[in-house]
Amino acid sequence: MYMNENSLKKTLSKLNIGGLRYFNSIGSTNDEALAWAAEGAPDLSIVLADEQTQGRGRLDRKWFTPKDSGLAFSLILRPTAALRPHLSRTVGLAALSMAESCSMLGLAPRIKWPNDILVNGKKTAGILIETVWSGNDIDSLVIGMGINVYKSSVPPVEVLQFPATSLEDEIGKEPPAREEILFGILNAFIDWRKRMASDELIKAWEEMLAFRGEQVQIHAGDESPITGELMGLESDGSLRLRGSHDNSVIVRFGDVSLRPGA
Ligand code: ADP
Repeated sequence: MYMNENSLKKTLSKLNIGGLRYFNSIGSTNDEALAWAAEGAPDLSIVLADEQTQGRGRLDRKWFTPKDSGLAFSLILRPTAALRPHLSRTVGLAALSMAESCSMLGLAPRIKWPNDILVNGKKTAGILIETVWSGNDIDSLVIGMGINVYKSSVPPVEVLQFPATSLEDEIGKEPPAREEILFGILNAFIDWRKRMASDELIKAWEEMLAFRGEQVQIHAGDESPITGELMGLESDGSLRLRGSHDNSVIVRFGDVSLRPGA
């Protein structure tokens, strides 16, 4: 059974979203959203699919979204002049919104900086942000979010680089309808975006970070990993580690992967 488009529309009508494109099955919601954004989609437009056949992670990695199993959607953002200086915080805004909606379900989520949500140390949701450029300016951002709702959304263990789980596994019973979970995420997102420029956002994001006070490794491409104790965030959302000589090491976004360990 695919998602119920009518109940989806009804639920979303309670929020101030731009527009909705729903698909039973699609290649990638981000691809559709990038094309729609380039055609002038209004702010907070959403592309949502029950199934993705070519869902993407960062680099060339795949994001698994079998039908009737999870939430996969892309949100289009048109930044206002006031928000432009703070766009590096967008991934935190998205992660915090997803984490808060997991907290509402009685779970204790953590954000694996920069783009994943862990529940009990296992990956439950991920974020992929892509940009539509207009010359040297950002025209719009597309925030892809994937959440494992039912057990069937968890990929086979052979394809995983990091353990994965679903809300159903962690709650231990039937999770709320996917429309309701989506509503919770979007509601939190719209609310936090109003405070995107505030220290409050950085603080709330920092408090949700996984591995705080622990030794971690940061892998970037083939370079040897950076190691240190995970301290917190800089005001632009960069990660701050404490190196072995008590020195601060700042890790900026990019295709970096965080792992526990020394
Ligand atoms: P990471 O943030 O861990 O470096 P990405 O953000 O690029 O990884 O996400 C892609 C990776 O996530 C894939 O290579 C795969 O190992 C894993 N993955 C794919 N689909 C899912 C899913 N539905 N749930 C959890 N993990 C997934």
